[in-house]
Amino acid sequence: MVRVRLAPSPTGTLHIGTARTAVFNWLYARNQKGAFVLRIEDTDKERSKPEYTRNILEGLQWLGLDWDEEPVIQSERIEQHRAAIQTLLDQGLAYRCYASEEELAAMRDAQKAANRAPRYDNRHRNLTPEQEQAYQAEGREAVIRFRIDDNAEIRWNDLVRGPMRWKGADLGGDMVVARRAAADQIGDPLYNLVVVVDDAGMAITHVIRGEDHIANTAKQLLLYEALELPLPTFAHAPLILNAEGRKLSKRDGVTSINDFRAMGYTPEAIANYMTLLGWSVPEGMEERFSLTEAADVFSFDRVNKAGARFDWDKLNWLNAQILHAWSPQQLLETMTPLWEERGWTLTQSTEWKLALCELLGPSLTLLSDGVEQAEPFFACPDLADDAHQQLEVEGARDSLAQLITLIEADPWDGVDHDRTKALLGDAAKAAGVKKGVIMKSLRAALLGRLQGPDLITTWSLLAKIGEDLPRLRRCIS
Ligand code: GLU
Repeated sequence: MVRVRLAPSPTGTLHIGTARTAVFNWLYARNQKGAFVLRIEDTDKERSKPEYTRNILEGLQWLGLDWDEEPVIQSERIEQHRAAIQTLLDQGLAYRCYASEEELAAMRDAQKAANRAPRYDNRHRNLTPEQEQAYQAEGREAVIRFRIDDNAEIRWNDLVRGPMRWKGADLGGDMVVARRAAADQIGDPLYNLVVVVDDAGMAITHVIRGEDHIANTAKQLLLYEALELPLPTFAHAPLILNAEGRKLSKRDGVTSINDFRAMGYTPEAIANYMTLLGWSVPEGMEERFSLTEAADVFSFDRVNKAGARFDWDKLNWLNAQILHAWSPQQLLETMTPLWEERGWTLTQSTEWKLALCELLGPSLTLLSDGVEQAEPFFACPDLADDAHQQLEVEGARDSLAQLITLIEADPWDGVDHDRTKALLGDAAKAAGVKKGVIMKSLRAALLGRLQGPDLITTWSLLAKIGEDLPRLRRCIS
């Protein structure tokens, strides 16, 4: 059975790269009727925080990426990690390196001065027992390094990138697998070792992660071999790039799923878009799909090798498609808390609020548009400059005054649209202006601006809550 995992480090909120990796893992697991499991990689004690774990789990849930088992907490598996390091030590595949930070820094400086790439020069690989004792007698601490043979040939068949080849010589020398500690201890185990022990321990069959981990995969393969563990299959998804083709970063403004949520994107649009970041739909399939629809047809041969450029227009298009397909009921449910956050009193009838959603729905790109556009329906707006200018047009105020007179003579409940149109025609005639003038002036008076949804429906909604006449009156006084 296929078992895949997402292994987020709780050192920040759910990052868009992690979310995209999660999507690919989820899609593959569901496609293969396998398991999607989580491992919280909390071994960096200083930077890991429980609130980040919560944020990551909530973010995955929000996106609709359900997982199958209780998440594994990496720090709870430290005994297994230490045992694996002990095995490597016992077999002579790892050793203690007593070089101090200063010595290593001097080594790197010398390499730099000689124009060579920085790497550990394996200086403590073959210490004699006497040398070791001398360092220990000095009270020196040691890291534990795993031997990497410069001549090692590392090969794997990547599900995305095809046949891959690495040379041991390109991995930076013998690799640290445990942090500095007293010479008779095993210090904190490090990422590459820990991941191998855990992926094997959790019976992971496919390791699906970002392309930035390729060099780690080469190192990890050597560890699998040394520890005689069964190999998983690897798939490296392309990086997410910004519009300039550089890795998407903090400088691009949004990096966390929280940011997208706050900007008014729906989880459906984000999940849909994350899938498209690197995966191309099979012929005949629409680019707008649900995660389940994508899972049915997901495969790695449609994942691109090239980096995926983040395209805001496409994401906005997807979000708009999704919002336009929502029922007024669904929109109302989503908008209500957002409207409440603005402190508006929402005492209108449900029927009225549904009608408002029906009016606004077709013009929304983001949920935040649904807040911005609803504002004049819940709070009397100030007049914007263009609204002021419109009211200065000859006959504009007079046409509104005529409208008020007509309504006061024969009160109107905002329901009959034919009556509404007739009223506008009569008031325009009485004021001697074209119909366009009264329409624009009415919009300026009701919404405080010249842009907005259908005027007749807007007016009737405001009339139903008694908000039309006061707004007209304030414009003529
Ligand atoms: N904790 C690592 C990360 O967040 C996991 C990488 C992996 O999937 O092995 O980058």
